[in-house]
Amino acid sequence: MAPTMDLIDPRTFLLVANLLGLLCALVLWVQARSFPTEIAGLRDWALAVVLISCASGLASLRGILHDGFAIVLASGLLLFGELLLIVGLQRYHGRRPVWRPTLDVIGAALLLIVFLTFGTHNYQGRIFIMALAHIGFFAYGAWLAWRAQPAGFGSRFLTVAFLLGVVVAAWRLATLSMGTAESDEAFDRNLIQQVYLGVFSLGVLGLSIGFILLANERLRVELEFMATRDPMTGMLNRRAFFARAAVEWARAVRAHRPLAVVTADIDFFKKVNDTYGHHVGDLVIKDFALRASRLLRVPDILARFGGEEFVILLPDTDLANACHVAERIRKEVATHRDKALPTYTASLGVAVAQGAPGDAADIEALIAEADAALYRAKQGGRNRVEG
Ligand code: GH3
Ligand code: MG
Ligand code: MG
Repeated sequence: MAPTMDLIDPRTFLLVANLLGLLCALVLWVQARSFPTEIAGLRDWALAVVLISCASGLASLRGILHDGFAIVLASGLLLFGELLLIVGLQRYHGRRPVWRPTLDVIGAALLLIVFLTFGTHNYQGRIFIMALAHIGFFAYGAWLAWRAQPAGFGSRFLTVAFLLGVVVAAWRLATLSMGTAESDEAFDRNLIQQVYLGVFSLGVLGLSIGFILLANERLRVELEFMATRDPMTGMLNRRAFFARAAVEWARAVRAHRPLAVVTADIDFFKKVNDTYGHHVGDLVIKDFALRASRLLRVPDILARFGGEEFVILLPDTDLANACHVAERIRKEVATHRDKALPTYTASLGVAVAQGAPGDAADIEALIAEADAALYRAKQGGRNRVEG
């Protein structure tokens, strides 16, 4: 017997690895219950880890349990568990899981395993089939994990864990063909199998941790989005606007560069609501946000301040250019493009600061100046720009 095996009894190793796996399943299940439903796949992963732990538990009792449980049932649970890992990732990607062809292949593989176990007693053939299945599932899992969003540490960790699974299964295949002679000895064979199962359980533990990390990163991104965005238009909300504007203000003051603010308000919007209903009113607000944002450059910031009122921050832009941008937005929204929406117009007010005497003292004052210009635009007949 190998000397290292005096240190760790393979069965104890396997038991500990499986218990840790079950703990991870518990974490996954708790997350599945508490996370927003858009972060899908956690439930599949929790179940997958439980099934795989049961499978390796059953397999480790080989010789004690009937082969129907220790081999056939264990293989079935293992393959189905691995399919659930893939299904969970597909759900995480927002795709509909694909069950059918894989389930058929699993069924066929199980029939073959029954035959190899009770018919021909072909140990090598069984390991061969299972190792091939592992390689297939893990390689596809690595691909899905690599493409998972956000592409941060969790995604990379999960990809590496899947690839290690591919390597271990390939190693199993390689040692299988070489070790035909020695593996006749039942005890050694059993030992290799136990160690393999233990490594496998540890691998599943690594996979679970990777998926937990990935889901947590997605949660952080979604919470950040919810905290900074207006849910209806997806544009920045007032709070996020002021956070970004403070940075731009400081930069403009330091570099003595102009900073422009445009405020926009849709004209006679109450009438849109009254005539076409609140839903169409919402569509008009979204339409405005989309079309205005398309006319902006990367550093520009468009925020919805409430109702049908928007504020645009234009860094490094002087009054003439800011008025030009505002005018383009006015013209664009006044053009009737979407036949499902009524024609509508907007009024815009422009103000610029560049650190000169008499300029606005802070971003709030600058917005107030733009608002005053907007008021003049409304007074002057609407559908116009004042600066
Ligand atoms: P003006 O040309 O002077 O801007 O006239 P107006 O009718 O647009 O006047 P005002 O800006 O006061 O009207 C805003 C209206 O927008 C009042 C409110 O019922 C409606 N409103 C606010 N938020 C929403 C929203 O999220 N969806 C819809 N459909 N309507 C909203
Ligand atoms: Mg208004
Ligand atoms: Mg209005």
